[in-house]
Amino acid sequence: MTAAQVTLQQQQSRRPGILIVGAGLGGLFLGIILEELGHPYHIFERATEVRPLGSTMALGPGILPVFEQLDLLKELEKFALPCHSVEIHNANMDLFGSIKFMERERSGYPNLLFERPDLYDLLLRRVPKDRISMGKKVLRTEEVSGRVYIHCADNTTYEGDILVGADGAYSGVRQSIYRELMKKGMLPKSDHEDFSVANISMVGVAEKQDPKKYPQLNDKQANFSTTLGHMKTRTVINIPDNRICWTINIQLSKEEAKAQHFRNSEWGPESNEKMIKEFEQLPCPWGGTMGEIIHATPKHLISKVFLEEKFFKTWYHGQTVLIGDACHKMLPGAGLGAVNAMQDAVVLANCISKMSDVSPQNITAAFGQYYKQRYRHALYSFTMSRFWTKMTYGQTWSERLLRQQVVNFTPEWVYFMLYFKTASYRPQIAWLPLAENRGTVRILPQDDIGSETKADMSKSRFKIKSKSKNKSRNKEQDQGYICEQVEKEKTKQTMESKKVDDHLLIV
Ligand SMILES: Cc1cc2nc3c(=O)[nH]c(=O)nc-3n(C[C@H](O)[C@H](O)[C@H](O)COP(=O)(O)OP(=O)(O)OC[C@H]3O[C@@H](n4cnc5c(N)ncnc54)[C@H](O)[C@@H]3O)c2cc1C
Repeated sequence: MTAAQVTLQQQQSRRPGILIVGAGLGGLFLGIILEELGHPYHIFERATEVRPLGSTMALGPGILPVFEQLDLLKELEKFALPCHSVEIHNANMDLFGSIKFMERERSGYPNLLFERPDLYDLLLRRVPKDRISMGKKVLRTEEVSGRVYIHCADNTTYEGDILVGADGAYSGVRQSIYRELMKKGMLPKSDHEDFSVANISMVGVAEKQDPKKYPQLNDKQANFSTTLGHMKTRTVINIPDNRICWTINIQLSKEEAKAQHFRNSEWGPESNEKMIKEFEQLPCPWGGTMGEIIHATPKHLISKVFLEEKFFKTWYHGQTVLIGDACHKMLPGAGLGAVNAMQDAVVLANCISKMSDVSPQNITAAFGQYYKQRYRHALYSFTMSRFWTKMTYGQTWSERLLRQQVVNFTPEWVYFMLYFKTASYRPQIAWLPLAENRGTVRILPQDDIGSETKADMSKSRFKIKSKSKNKSRNKEQDQGYICEQVEKEKTKQTMESKKVDDHLLIV
């Protein structure tokens, strides 16, 4: 055997060193899964400290099974409330109608609403501290001789096998690979185009309020109340601990949207007195004015953002891949932005963990699998996000008409069909015991799960009446076939990852 062959064999058996740019919800979730799998990884975040910004977020059946797999669901439920519907009020405060979500009996999981910083803290606590470097703004990335490099603003450079761009809507990693693709004439035209701006939003979470003033705070479910006005929408939602998440939103006309293109659209603590003034005298659907709730929010925790959308066609190139907002920035109407970022993380981790070696060809092939599995589902979520944003915020003539139709004349089964597709797609971590389906909705089989399990998954989802029988068989199947594989794989990976942690090199 020659020396060259020895090197090749050693390379083939090792696990890839993964550089993740961005410690947002997508980047952290990927870190947690890789930690579980024993893969070497490191997260680079440009912020110097965690910023507890943001307001309401929602997670539902599309991702909660993975929270269950990771033992995070109970923790999440501690600071979340289930939400069953959205109530829409007219400008004169009359209840215009409500949009119901799929019930728990059907989907098997609640729709949980909570404050973004709480979820962020939960995920951050699960990632070991030595796996994240804060204050690392990545300026440039490159690939040389089968290795990826990131160059940071503080003049440090890091090297690995795989680079994941989880750096949000204005992803620098995306810009780096797009520059390469443009040079080669390989970038689709639509990927050059600008984001489309739809709304300006301001969000915050008011400090503890009096339940005597707002009786909605006594409820054990989230009351989601939206009030429409002339191109202006305001929303209040109760979360545990007597706090209120709020959003004020201005819909932009096409001309205004064009004029905003040069603006920075990232989430930031940019309180804007002018926008607050426009809303503070308006009545809150729960009584009093919006100003009373807005002014009960610490100023540095109010963020303003231009809500945009864009679905990119190109998600990977060579040894670099994108997840979350970096490849599909969605409008907030369906609450699917974070869900999709996390689903990306699950599927990408599954594809990476199946790689037989870390050759550049194999890495690109794994990314191809990830793209194939995720693209159409993310595109569907993108379309639904646009639809529900028009439904809940839209103020143009055609959007008002659409809302009239949907809220007043749509039978329940049509809602069911609309939710069905999102509720039935639930990618899970292939190497952990699967969370069983407790609902009656049929679940799509998952590409990267062993054929026996796949067959069992879809059977259990058809046989609603004999669920308990299937339950035990599912458990047996999961804990027998899968656990055995998982244990074998985990032991192997832990041993290997100890050997290969040094592949994440500081140069
Ligand atoms: C502070 C903040 C508040 C938000 N609040 C809400 C909210 O209230 N409601 C809602 O629906 N959505 C909110 N979002 C958006 C939502 O979290 C995302 O749409 C969704 O979770 C997808 O996550 P992501 O990981 O793809 O991107 P993001 O959550 O945007 O995370 C991207 C991360 O990458 C980091 N980053 C960017 N560029 C670089 C670089 N060059 N080098 C290193 N790191 C970099 C960013 O600082 C950020 O931490 C917020 C996002 C942020 C960052």
